[in-house]
Amino acid sequence: MRSIRTLLLAGAAAAALTIGIISPASAIQLSAATPTPTPTATAKATPTPTPTATPKATPTPTPTATPKATPTPTPTAATFRLPLAAKSYSVSSYFGPRCIPVRYGPTVHRGVDMAAAGGAPIHAVAAGIVTATVNGTSSQEGYISVRSIIDGVEYKTVYMHMWSATTHVKVGQTVTAGQRISQVGTSGASSGNHLHLELWKSTPAGMVATDAAAFLKNKGVDLYTSAYRVNAKPTPATCTYYTVGGVNFRTGPSTGYSVIRMLPLGTAMVHVPGTITAGFIPVKVGTQTGWVSASLVSPTKPPAPAVVAPRPVPKPPTYAATAALNLRTGPSTANARILLIPKGANVGVIKASSGQWRQVSYAGKTGWVHSTYLVKR
Ligand SMILES: [Zn+2]
Repeated sequence: MRSIRTLLLAGAAAAALTIGIISPASAIQLSAATPTPTPTATAKATPTPTPTATPKATPTPTPTATPKATPTPTPTAATFRLPLAAKSYSVSSYFGPRCIPVRYGPTVHRGVDMAAAGGAPIHAVAAGIVTATVNGTSSQEGYISVRSIIDGVEYKTVYMHMWSATTHVKVGQTVTAGQRISQVGTSGASSGNHLHLELWKSTPAGMVATDAAAFLKNKGVDLYTSAYRVNAKPTPATCTYYTVGGVNFRTGPSTGYSVIRMLPLGTAMVHVPGTITAGFIPVKVGTQTGWVSASLVSPTKPPAPAVVAPRPVPKPPTYAATAALNLRTGPSTANARILLIPKGANVGVIKASSGQWRQVSYAGKTGWVHSTYLVKR
């Protein structure tokens, strides 16, 4: 997701899912924690239920242990392959800290972006088992997630931005390194056809996003030298953002901290990319340091609120009598006559209408005349 495009599409949609606040990868991470039993180690070790647990009361073996059919063990990956054909792609964005690219965007890029032709085959970088396939739309990244065991550690690779995630694989299927699993697309928050490749490593603290390029290079697969070009820009030391409205400038990273002051719309601030705590980023406004909500800043300076010149209110037309006519107390000939307006006299603006009758004023008196005898001056 290197993207700018969906900025316009949907602030809300983008906020909700894509650009990292709830990245599909982290969603996977959550689901991955529970559903499948621990892999490799237990699978071969215990083909039968452990006898020790068998309770004395029941003569029959406990059924609880057996019913789950042995799950497909997560393949151990030993060989590694490029996810796209060599020299068919350019590296457009590195893994790591970066300036928030659009409002609601993340300040950490959790993958490596490889720009390639739409439809170009995507290959699994390592053997594994497919754990998720999500089809893409313009507002939702399509992605395929694959779980692997590498050097005895569980990893998850996520291939993102395809349109259809199920053309070549399905959940539960094992894939080999180099096996075609999908094709390059530009679904979700994406500015063009590219593969966003994430690598997550299992740690005691949970799944942690890892630089796939560095990891694969260590395994003999160099995403950079295999590209026909590397366009990615190095991370700048600081990024400049602007408030998207009145934003509270706080002493700490939550709404529980006191407000130093309110920053008006368009206030510039400086941020060190990658630093974020609970959705708040530490920033410097002038020489003052504080925290603002990351969702309330944008890398683009908002246009100054247009000074709306008061539109000249068009003057209502005034009218004159085309004949001598009666000014009456109400809108019908049944109403009493107040006075006679002479032909050619100015009766000013029309104050009210009722059928063919108009309320006007003449000589300090307000009453009703028939519209037949009025003409715009
Ligand atoms: Zn990306």
